[in-house]
Amino acid sequence: MRKLVLVVIDAMKPEMLERAIAAGRAPALARIAADGVYVSDVVAAFPSVTPVCAATITTGVGPDRHRIPSMNWYHRGEGRYVEYGSSFSASRQAGVLRSLTDTVYRMNAEHLAAETPTVFESLDDAGLRTAGTTYLIYRGRHEHEVAQDSALGRIVASTLFRQAILGPRELFYADLYASRRTGCRGQLGLPGARDQHTGCVGSYLVEHDLFDFMLFSLPDNDSNSHRNGPQAQVASIAAADRQLERLMHAGGGPDRFLQDHAVIVTSDHSQALVEASVRLDLALADFRIATPTGSGSVGAELALSPAQRSAMIYVLDGERRERLVADVVAAVAELRGVDLTMWLSAGADAQPEAVIRAPGGAELHFAPGSALADLRGNRWDVDGDLGVLAAHVQDGRLLCPDYPDALARAWEALRCPTAGDVLLSAAPGYEFVDWGGVAHVGGGSHGSLHRSDSLGALLWCGTGPERREQREQWTLREVTPMILSHFGLPAGV
Ligand SMILES: [Zn+2]
Repeated sequence: MRKLVLVVIDAMKPEMLERAIAAGRAPALARIAADGVYVSDVVAAFPSVTPVCAATITTGVGPDRHRIPSMNWYHRGEGRYVEYGSSFSASRQAGVLRSLTDTVYRMNAEHLAAETPTVFESLDDAGLRTAGTTYLIYRGRHEHEVAQDSALGRIVASTLFRQAILGPRELFYADLYASRRTGCRGQLGLPGARDQHTGCVGSYLVEHDLFDFMLFSLPDNDSNSHRNGPQAQVASIAAADRQLERLMHAGGGPDRFLQDHAVIVTSDHSQALVEASVRLDLALADFRIATPTGSGSVGAELALSPAQRSAMIYVLDGERRERLVADVVAAVAELRGVDLTMWLSAGADAQPEAVIRAPGGAELHFAPGSALADLRGNRWDVDGDLGVLAAHVQDGRLLCPDYPDALARAWEALRCPTAGDVLLSAAPGYEFVDWGGVAHVGGGSHGSLHRSDSLGALLWCGTGPERREQREQWTLREVTPMILSHFGLPAGV
């Protein structure tokens, strides 16, 4: 059986990948597409931000089951915000060490649902040799101690993570974890240097035949696209491609490498241009809002979790939930830059139903049911205005090209137990200002339910179905089952 490499290129926009390939700047990706199958519209999770999508890629389920709700969220049990690093200044607001602990340690050990296996855990249980480069989700069955031979490793070991973490058999995480000496330097995990670290470690693992499955993470495209806009991705996709070429070279060149290795390449989400920002805190200034500082939750009515082109609002006063949700919906209703407002309410038979509201007040109510099928075959009962999602019905099927897989993604986001009570999706061109005061105006961003930042690229060769037509719609939920079935394991999640 071929070994398998899962390559995640953060925020890779299909149009930019195609441009890079056409310009001859992405020969390794071009080869994978030519030998295999290319899907130009794989649907992200919602909110389409990296932690949520990374958890879906590595578990095969949505946030209702993996429970990573967003980039920033409010931990009701602990009465505080969790900040996975929306921006450095947002991390500083939350406390840099606390944000680092949440991102590196608690996301895997506490926040990611314990009962939902990761692809690493499933493969570890089957006795396969797993490996991972620096990636948000790494949970596996093998214990790793902090690497104490780097400055960051020593600081972290003395202040943050004294206990071992559980990861794949071979784990390399920035300068913090290294399951063996490779000579590769993590450069503190700084943007621009991270792809190179992955390429260095991955090549070592290929050369020494140390894995059956490896997650090969290339995050630098996302930061470049945030700063310089999606059009600038050709350069960072070309840079990511060079690390893939390096991997192929370590395996004896592209022909030999692809004889021995199957490859799946996926985006986690896309990016769209940002032209203006939205200040949620100003729109909700009449409420008492929890702040990220130590005692900031005392007496607060709401918590706000802006996350790029999405946002969540938590009602903290449980006894007034219904009233406060209505007040919040009214307060953000005509806020410029807010496209869709979503919440759960009690339906006719007291079963929960989701509500999506468009600017102007039109509402669509829905819940799992029987009346309409979506492109993935899930069935829904729908009531209200389909125009909210620019959707229409054809032969009993719901078609919704502007908001791909909209009902399932919104439902999974709203049903996530750690999510807010009201979720927002930004209009094209808009981004919510984060807790550090940062938005990427003039650059790119992502997070919404809209197609512009939700559709990424998925390509594979040496594994998986032979034709993209096998499915009408591909989503990130398909990646883990593809990996499991490559190794002959049941893909039912
Ligand atoms: Zn991003």
